Amino acid sequence: MHGLPLLILIITLVIVQKHLLLHAKKFDMSYPREYEIAFVGLKPGEHYFTYEITDKFFEPFQEQDFKNCHAVVKLKLDKQSGFMLLKFDVDGRVELICDRCGNNLQIQLWDEFNMAVKMADDADLMNEREEDPDIYYISRGESHLHIAEWVYEFINLSIPIQRMCKEDEIGGPQCNTDVLERLKLMEDEVKTDESSLIWKGLDQFKDLQ
Ligand SMILES: [Zn+2]
Repeated sequence: MHGLPLLILIITLVIVQKHLLLHAKKFDMSYPREYEIAFVGLKPGEHYFTYEITDKFFEPFQEQDFKNCHAVVKLKLDKQSGFMLLKFDVDGRVELICDRCGNNLQIQLWDEFNMAVKMADDADLMNEREEDPDIYYISRGESHLHIAEWVYEFINLSIPIQRMCKEDEIGGPQCNTDVLERLKLMEDEVKTDESSLIWKGLDQFKDLQ
């Protein structure tokens, strides 16, 4: 009887959790050295980096709601004087649970993200004041760029908010028909309850006639 409201609650919680994850500050974590770019040693101009991302990458972070991640993140770093332009290309796939039928669902990741990294005297203060999420400040004394959290964020942002089998696949091989049928039954039950309640209230007037 309470199955449908419960399902809606669970879906809402999952969405809220995703947003909390993205905005959580992730301090005190150690990432592999390959996610630290020693940019001071780089010549001006374009430099290319490639990262193979699997489930192992996400271990230092909180538990993810997807698995079997196989993604490649390509980074183009354009070093200029006083700033750097970063372009991240995300390409790959993850497996997650369909919001509608509960089946495993494979999602293609394909997206790109741009960041401008600027040198500043008071980087922390500048970051606090900056409203553009694509601009990040590092202090002039800094020698390394830490990109693990960006990679983490960009992979998560590449996953669509709506995680469902496509419309034309309802009841198709990708969708779990058992669950869909049970959901339909629950919806019908709710409707029947609502209509019988209307008649219940009117019953007491029957004898008055
Ligand atoms: Zn489905």
